[in-house]
Amino acid sequence: MKIRNRLLLTYLTLLLAVILLLGLFLQSSLNEFFLVDLEKTLQKDAGVFASLINSEEDWQSDYTKAQVDRFAELFDARITLISNGGEVWADSAYDATRMNNHATRPEVVQALQGRIGTSSRHSATLEMDTLYLAYPVFAEEGVRGVIRISKSMTVVEEIISALERIILSGILIALFIGALISYFLAKTITNPIKEISQTADEIAGGNLEKRIFLNRRDEMGRLAWAINKMTEKLKEEIRTVRNRSQRLETILQNMVSGVLVISENGLVEGINPEAEKIFEISWEKIKHKPYQTFLRNYDFQESFDRILREGLRSELEFTIYYPQEKNVKAFFAPIYGEERVEQVVIVFHDVSRLKKLEKIKSDFVANASHELRTPLTAIKGFSETLLEGALQDENVSRRFVDIIDKEADRLIHLVNTLLDLSRLEQGKKDVFKPESLFLGEILEYCYQSMQNKAKESGIILKLEIPNPEKTVLADRNLLTQAVFNLVDNALKHSGNNGDVFLRVRYTEKEVLLEVEDKGKGIPPQETERIFERFYQVQHERPGDRKGTGLGLSIVKHIALLHEGTVEVESEVGRGSIFRIRLPNSR
Ligand code: ADP
Repeated sequence: MKIRNRLLLTYLTLLLAVILLLGLFLQSSLNEFFLVDLEKTLQKDAGVFASLINSEEDWQSDYTKAQVDRFAELFDARITLISNGGEVWADSAYDATRMNNHATRPEVVQALQGRIGTSSRHSATLEMDTLYLAYPVFAEEGVRGVIRISKSMTVVEEIISALERIILSGILIALFIGALISYFLAKTITNPIKEISQTADEIAGGNLEKRIFLNRRDEMGRLAWAINKMTEKLKEEIRTVRNRSQRLETILQNMVSGVLVISENGLVEGINPEAEKIFEISWEKIKHKPYQTFLRNYDFQESFDRILREGLRSELEFTIYYPQEKNVKAFFAPIYGEERVEQVVIVFHDVSRLKKLEKIKSDFVANASHELRTPLTAIKGFSETLLEGALQDENVSRRFVDIIDKEADRLIHLVNTLLDLSRLEQGKKDVFKPESLFLGEILEYCYQSMQNKAKESGIILKLEIPNPEKTVLADRNLLTQAVFNLVDNALKHSGNNGDVFLRVRYTEKEVLLEVEDKGKGIPPQETERIFERFYQVQHERPGDRKGTGLGLSIVKHIALLHEGTVEVESEVGRGSIFRIRLPNSR
């Protein structure tokens, strides 16, 4: 039931009870008042008539009878004269001789005992409700007789019922007005409650801009003020929380580490773009799914279970094999709920590149040592042989010293190349001096210089420059060396067949220097690694191994210094195209 209806019902019940009680009281008071009044009148009239009649000797005389009739008319009442034996001597309304003894009438009984007697009852004679009053008249020897005076109560009853009707209609009007007032009163109390509860509902539904407007200073006003204040606070809190989470979100989105949040039952609760990249998955696909759907690794699972059990941070390095082989480092951190670890945050670093670099580094040390050891071993071997006596033989010693000299040259060349390479790698300013160069001039120079070597191998070297006066911003020596290295490789690996092309092409943004050969080509799995220092493709015949494995690495670093790149397109048995891309300076 609504508060308004409940209030209305209470008001009406109270009103009804009060009015009913009042009505009942009024009704009984009215009855009492009129009866007492009537009784008093009758008693006074009886007294007057008694003092008059008592002086009469004969109460049965015609005169007395005439007096009875006269006073009855005067009093507008019925007068009955009764002897002390109950016999009716005269009656103003009825023939006394035909009336029976009245000694047993209750009012007469009382009067005969010397008191004023009253009784109200329905008179059979007059056929109406009547009030009787019996008045004893005393002589010396006692009660001489009784004057009974009676009046119809019909008038009184009519007045009372008319009054009752007035009271009833009064009650009804009062009830109606009371109900109206109660209704409006209840409304004034419940309207603000309604307003407050409706607005509170809207606020609870998320509309934090909503406010309650109640211009009152009572409890309702205070309640409205408190709710408004609370909403304001809530809005502020939400703004703070939102800001914080946005900040966190931005950090997570832009972090270079992968982040994964897993619930205690192993479901993925969140992932950032970097982690999506590492595992090559998307949030939509793994949302609230077990992490094992994309990360199956025994060590990982064990670390995850342990952090749930012990709640201690830990880290782990593991390898994933699908969809690509990667080395991943994971840092586990617990998020505590009320009493136990409820979520685990795992930060991932893709350390594949680092691993690869480590490998390259250790390969480099091994390769460099190997490359240096070969000539050193030769030098040591020949010098020992010389010391052990070969010095005596001039022919032999000349040949040996010659070899020692060549190997020392090779060593010097190797060390110089390594130094060049390390300077290139560090991008030293004294190595790199760019200027505006005619491409045609550079390539022409390389072409001419390599002509002889090509002829020796029976290879035709072809030059294609569509636009020789075009310039490029480059370091003359370095660019020449890069082209030399590429042409030299092409000649070395052409194996006497086909031509070698040296050409330039232009695109919107780049200048492409291409060296193409029709030689043996490079297996696809090697194409990436040939640019590493010392890396050499394994040859079928060990004797083929000639170079140092540094040539392409130098080309790569020269390209990088020019803010360009180098790449290779190759097919085993059909040849290769090496391409240096330089920015088009125009
Ligand atoms: P190297 O001094 O040994 O030639 P590079 O760095 O120049 O060292 O080359 C690395 C490897 O790449 C070589 O071992 C060679 O097998 C391969 N290579 C380079 N150029 C070519 C080419 N034009 N055709 C086939 N293989 C090539």
